[in-house]
Amino acid sequence: METRSLCPVCLRVIPARYEQRGHEIFFNKRCPEHGFFETVFWRDAAMFFKWQKQAVHALKNAGLPYGQAECPFNCGLCGEHEGKICTAVMEITYRCNLRCAVCFADTEKSSFDPSIEQIEAMYRTALRYGGVCSIQLSGGEPTLREDLPSIITLGKEMGFRHIQVNTNGLRLASEPEYALRLAEAGADLVYLQFDGVDDVIYKKIRGRRLLAEKCAAIEHCGRANLGVLLVPTVMPGLNLAHLGEIIEFAKKHMPVVKGVHFQPVSYFGRFPGNAPRNEHRCSLCDIIHALEEQTNGEITEAHLVPRKRFSPHCSFSALYYLPPQGRLQSVTHAERNAFLDERTDFPQKANAFTNKYWRMSLSQQEQNGRSAMQEFRARLRTHTLAISGMGFQDVWNIDIGRLQGCCVSVISANAKAIPLCAFHLTSASGTRLYRNDQRP
Ligand SMILES: [Zn+2]
Repeated sequence: METRSLCPVCLRVIPARYEQRGHEIFFNKRCPEHGFFETVFWRDAAMFFKWQKQAVHALKNAGLPYGQAECPFNCGLCGEHEGKICTAVMEITYRCNLRCAVCFADTEKSSFDPSIEQIEAMYRTALRYGGVCSIQLSGGEPTLREDLPSIITLGKEMGFRHIQVNTNGLRLASEPEYALRLAEAGADLVYLQFDGVDDVIYKKIRGRRLLAEKCAAIEHCGRANLGVLLVPTVMPGLNLAHLGEIIEFAKKHMPVVKGVHFQPVSYFGRFPGNAPRNEHRCSLCDIIHALEEQTNGEITEAHLVPRKRFSPHCSFSALYYLPPQGRLQSVTHAERNAFLDERTDFPQKANAFTNKYWRMSLSQQEQNGRSAMQEFRARLRTHTLAISGMGFQDVWNIDIGRLQGCCVSVISANAKAIPLCAFHLTSASGTRLYRNDQRP
């Protein structure tokens, strides 16, 4: 499979290809000046090809206010782009209260915060390119801004229905009423960095113990009725062998915890420069295999739906129902929606659904008939767990074709929407493809 990529040294566009060797898929490319580069891409060739077949290409975004194409140097978005924005990330501060070994945002260099007028302009840019998409307020650490609640309220007033706060949870932990303030301002979800259930992991990746604070943050969100998505950054040799424990933790903290979103480590931002070794690489398929093994098949590849647009290797998602017995049952979104829809023929749907997902618990209560069904339906509303993963591209494995299907954009203060992987991309020596234009 041929595509185009960037030279990790000079960032020029060069031809690249996916190549199968044994059970693995490699991504390689050659720069006329800087030579040959290769990285492992996917460690399960069968899954790679199976997912590849599900790719769907959309029409290019003709008619939208996109700039001239020169991918990936003229993002904004450009006429080459075919992914519609599903999530717009807005960096509202560059300050942070942690010094992590791995970080997307290069937060050390600036303490500049965009003004509220700039943030309003960023919301308008998100509307222009993505319509009423999901907004993620990010940073730096967004809770360091005292006006975060008014920023959330502003977004809600401008029509955004889903606003999530990407946080390390330290402030949510130390100020029990803070979660309530965010919830009252209109926040829909806390996107909580959560790398594992062992402080050894936090010390390595975040520089200090954090588990107690993560637990306190979740407890305070629960009291404020504010949902939490756990977001582990997954690294081989660090927490790849402990993903099952994260799933168990998530189950124990439902219904506050709404899901787990796994992100394989990428090599940009503040990560030291040289080509990462293949044993330090982790792809979505490694995460899926780890989940299968570590949950004894409670989660399997068969439950997971790859993203369909352009490259299915960017992300997957699945939805589960947790019955009272405590073992996750796979549910598709369509089934869940049909079941919760008030207009559908309730008893008939319920029977079909419970036969599939709830047989054991129903038997204890089947004499109660409809009331048992109602109880089940109420539990289905609260006890579903979304499990998903998204792999970001770095300069070693960036596929420009795949970038053009990207649906997660960072909104810059100069009215541009830049695909997240392009926005954070750095060369081997740390040169950014995109300067963050909000900095003075
Ligand atoms: Zn080069």
